[in-house]
Amino acid sequence: MSILLKVDTALSNILADMKKLEAETVSLPDALDRVLAGDLVSPIDLPPFDNSAMDGYAIHFEDSADASQSNPAALPVTMDILAGSAPDGKLKPGAAARIMTGAPLPQGASAVIPVEDTDDDWSKGENIPLPARVRLYRSLSSGENIRLAGENISVGDTIIRAGTIIGPAEIGMIAGIGRPRVEVIRQPKVVILSSGDELVDIYDELGPGKIRDTNGYTLAGLIRGAGGVPIRLPIAKDRLESIRSLYRRALEINPDLLISTAGVSVGAADLVKVVMDELGEIDFWRINMRPGKPLAYGTIQGVPFFGLPGNPVSTMVTFEVIVRPALAKIAGRAHKRRTVKATLASEMRSDGRRTYARVTLKREGDRLIARSTGIQSSGALMSMVLADGLAVMPEEVTRIPAGESLDVLRLRPIE
Ligand code: AMP
Ligand code: MG
Repeated sequence: MSILLKVDTALSNILADMKKLEAETVSLPDALDRVLAGDLVSPIDLPPFDNSAMDGYAIHFEDSADASQSNPAALPVTMDILAGSAPDGKLKPGAAARIMTGAPLPQGASAVIPVEDTDDDWSKGENIPLPARVRLYRSLSSGENIRLAGENISVGDTIIRAGTIIGPAEIGMIAGIGRPRVEVIRQPKVVILSSGDELVDIYDELGPGKIRDTNGYTLAGLIRGAGGVPIRLPIAKDRLESIRSLYRRALEINPDLLISTAGVSVGAADLVKVVMDELGEIDFWRINMRPGKPLAYGTIQGVPFFGLPGNPVSTMVTFEVIVRPALAKIAGRAHKRRTVKATLASEMRSDGRRTYARVTLKREGDRLIARSTGIQSSGALMSMVLADGLAVMPEEVTRIPAGESLDVLRLRPIE
């Protein structure tokens, strides 16, 4: 049952099992950061009508021919068009319409001259009377300062593709086409289970031999950051009945994914294995990676399950490498590759397993330099606090000299 699996093989097996969740409807403001379920097609032109891009005067562009500062063209002002109004009638050749930014262009007009290029002055405040005529200090070309109907989008255009993560610009576009509700992929509900007699929660006293459950909290953060909804259960004790009852509670929540930490290696108290065998169909894998060799994967009553190793760094690294892509698939998100090339500041060694070393990343000239965060123990969570990325040493490679370039999985944006 214990097979030493390549990281890529494990990942592709897992991804083949993951199914995208169904859609749900949310109100537009709640759609921020959610994944659009289907292509969004515009039922209207945007802008819906030809309008002015400037505060100024709409004219027939031919009437400005040869106009200049020393030889202005003077036109009678026959219309006044404010934003939000609907001009009636045509603009006659040889006449000008005072017009505000965003106001509909009157029929016949073919250009807008900004007020700054006329003899008019609107710096005087409200209710400025309409002048009898306006002088134009320059000539205009056809269509100047006009935003045409449909120039942004036309009826039937796909404005946002399925799978897009909805950001503020998308929210604005959806508002622009008048949709108060949006179909998005449901967020995966992910139950987190920590186990171990040594673990206490952050509110509890740290007695002799005890440590805090940090994995429950890092996992909740990782899951939320990946678009899931984390649900953390109380810590299970290293006793069959405690583990069993917490797994039953987890299943009652009807999760889309179950993640446990610890209890999947070969310790005497690794009873999680026993319970998993009872309740589900789980494979215990030994993956050719460091940190994070032991990993349990399978289903419990139809729910995909990941049993991550207990060491805090191993938990986080296996999440990054294995769980994050799986969660992205369930959540309908494109899993973006976050790998960058960096130059090693000093030699790096490994035992031939695919190794993920915690490094800082710094731009120096045109190169990105990767430096070890120091202590690389899989129990030392500080190495993750300090890390900008995980430098990947491929399988079979035991030494990479300083100055060589290698792939680094980014954990945060590089400054
Ligand atoms: P185990 O897989 O149970 O052998 O645990 C491996 C190591 O990870 C041990 O040092 C545990 O104390 C530690 N560990 C297990 N679970 C957690 C947790 N939730 N938070 C922090 N450390 C943990
Ligand atoms: Mg344990």
